[in-house]
Amino acid sequence: RAKERGNTYRFFTPEMNREVTRRLHLEEGLRAAICASQLTLYFQPIHRNGDGIVGFEALVRWVHPGEGLVLPGDFITLAEETGIIVPLGAMVLLKACHMLSHLQRHGCSNLYLSVNISPRQFDDPFFESKVAEALEKYKVDPRGLKLEMTEGVFIRNPVDASLRINDLKTRFPGLTFMIDDFGTGFSSFSYLSKLPVDVIKIDQTFISGLDQEHNRKIVKGIINLVKSLDLDVVAEGVQNLEHVEYLEKHGCYQHQGYYYYKPMTADELLHVLWEQNHH
Ligand code: C2E
Ligand code: CA
Ligand code: CA
Ligand code: CA
Repeated sequence: RAKERGNTYRFFTPEMNREVTRRLHLEEGLRAAICASQLTLYFQPIHRNGDGIVGFEALVRWVHPGEGLVLPGDFITLAEETGIIVPLGAMVLLKACHMLSHLQRHGCSNLYLSVNISPRQFDDPFFESKVAEALEKYKVDPRGLKLEMTEGVFIRNPVDASLRINDLKTRFPGLTFMIDDFGTGFSSFSYLSKLPVDVIKIDQTFISGLDQEHNRKIVKGIINLVKSLDLDVVAEGVQNLEHVEYLEKHGCYQHQGYYYYKPMTADELLHVLWEQNHH
């Protein structure tokens, strides 16, 4: 092919060629993965002091026939760039609602499931109908579903994003929205107070950096901000008892992280819940 097109490739170094090939290969594989149902959800519990597990975050994994379990860090960015995130995200929503309906039918209707929504997925004009389809297909009580989005989604067009979110919340009472990775963007107090979000998730870099004074100040500041706006707060990346104690001392009681649990399969989730209910 290179021969046929003469010097078409003269600006590409061999490394660039390899990178292009790798990406094309990954892209093809990812499209096939959606069709072949190689995508699966893992679930990481969110723990609240006194209550135990109060919810789970759904985290996608690619069960690759050759490579084993592939983490989202290796394919979500490409999925975003190529638009594959739209069908991928729709599949994640369906799988998450399936799990949620199972929990709601088996005496765990107080638990919530939170699902990551990428910017490109939210921008899709059919986003609302995909959320509706997943909730309706499995007859899920929307009070159990939380959608996590990063600040970037709101910053680009806050008025439009707020309108669309409010529409969904009206249509599905109890459905809530969460800002993920909070603190890494540029949210101001006034901006945050205008958004129709209910929960703030403190980014894990601040939690893992709690041994440093400036991170302690940031975390304390975020918790105070969130409380003054009457929002809920979750800390992620909680890895040790010092993290737990610092967060609780300042009023953040919902924790997610390796200190409690790593992401787990659906079977493990049911096992962990069973144990919690029998102790
Ligand atoms: P995220 O939304 O910030 O999710 C939290 C990530 O931190 C997860 O990585 C989780 O396994 C990891 N984590 C949780 N607790 C700890 C801890 O104590 N220590 C450390 N070091 N890590 C912890 P994961 O599953 O690899 O996901 C990475 C990112 O991929 C997610 O970050 C999210 O941005 C994206 N992602 C995952 N699933 C989906 C999905 O279904 N849709 C979309 N659009 N993005 C997803
Ligand atoms: Ca998340
Ligand atoms: Ca996060
Ligand atoms: Ca993150």
